[in-house]
Amino acid sequence: GSRSSSKAALQRGRMRLSLQEHLWAFYNERVNISAEEQQAARHAALDICAELRAFIHTKVPDMPLRDMYLSGSLYHDLQVVSADHAQLMVPLILEKSLWSFIPGEETIMNVPGFWLVRRENLEYFPRGSSYWDRCLIGGYLSPKSVLEVFEKLVTGCMNWPAIGSVLGYVVRPAVPSLTGAITLALEVQYDSDRWLHVDFLPLLVSEDTVSLVAKPHRERDNLWRQSFWSSETTRLLALDRDDDGCRCVCLKIAKAVCKLNPALTLLNASHLANAVLLLSESEHDWSRGALAERFTQLIRALVGHLEAERLPCALDYKVNLLCELTAREVDELGYTLYCSLSDPESLLRT
Ligand code: GDP
Repeated sequence: GSRSSSKAALQRGRMRLSLQEHLWAFYNERVNISAEEQQAARHAALDICAELRAFIHTKVPDMPLRDMYLSGSLYHDLQVVSADHAQLMVPLILEKSLWSFIPGEETIMNVPGFWLVRRENLEYFPRGSSYWDRCLIGGYLSPKSVLEVFEKLVTGCMNWPAIGSVLGYVVRPAVPSLTGAITLALEVQYDSDRWLHVDFLPLLVSEDTVSLVAKPHRERDNLWRQSFWSSETTRLLALDRDDDGCRCVCLKIAKAVCKLNPALTLLNASHLANAVLLLSESEHDWSRGALAERFTQLIRALVGHLEAERLPCALDYKVNLLCELTAREVDELGYTLYCSLSDPESLLRT
């Protein structure tokens, strides 16, 4: 009757309260990074960026680049657990008349969110007219080949032991990841127990301001990845600023859960940020007191996206952020999260 249902409601309230407390404790103890640690990491990243900039400028003065800059969660207080990585954005300059961007859905591969960059006008401007022609593969600019150009410079030509000792760091090129992804990164030890991973991310910006990053599709390494990162981050921060909300806290807790739980590492910042943005379209109360409810809803929403094998990008619904995962990976992620639904706190016991 009404008595037992009110008792159940009370119990639910208590459970919520305790989940709420656990979430905030987890956030303060494990997730959030002190301002001092963030500052130290940013400082090291800046030193490395300055060295690279100077070196590339002297060694290959004719390479058409815009100014490199640092970017990533570290710069918006969205990094979690430890301040251990940053992206070094390297914007390439492409001649407008020589290159065109072709959306993935207009190619036979049919993948929204990825693009081909085609060399145009080869009959009038033969191969070699553009600096970046050296990275052409089959008539298209290859992100892999662009990364290789930088790899030769950064790991082949720079004397990192010497540079590191001047800066007081230990610097070495990072070992490629086990997933076989094509990446270029530096590993910087800037204190006895502090490391920073600096990822090199060549970037193309088209006239209509589509940004593409040289982080190729998992299986098709001639495709450039469209970057929604700036718009996602700007939107999240703006939403929270407007209503003093806890979307970023919720996102950071989810990021930490996925970073610390080996069964969930395939869920990345972009998956989680977009899930939060999508949830923000239907849920408007993001006050601090609603954290437990929103967090639980976020997990449930993720289970739903994984079941449907579809997590749309909040900035472009035709992009499915799960498209690079195999059915098996999607299944396993979904299963792990589904099992946590009855006891969301279990996700915090890492
Ligand atoms: P975190 O690394 O999990 O803390 O999350 P971030 O928000 O820093 O996400 C960084 C990831 O987004 C990296 O894997 C980047 O390769 C990828 N990414 C894609 N586009 C961009 C971009 O425009 N800027 C940055 N900083 N990262 C991008």
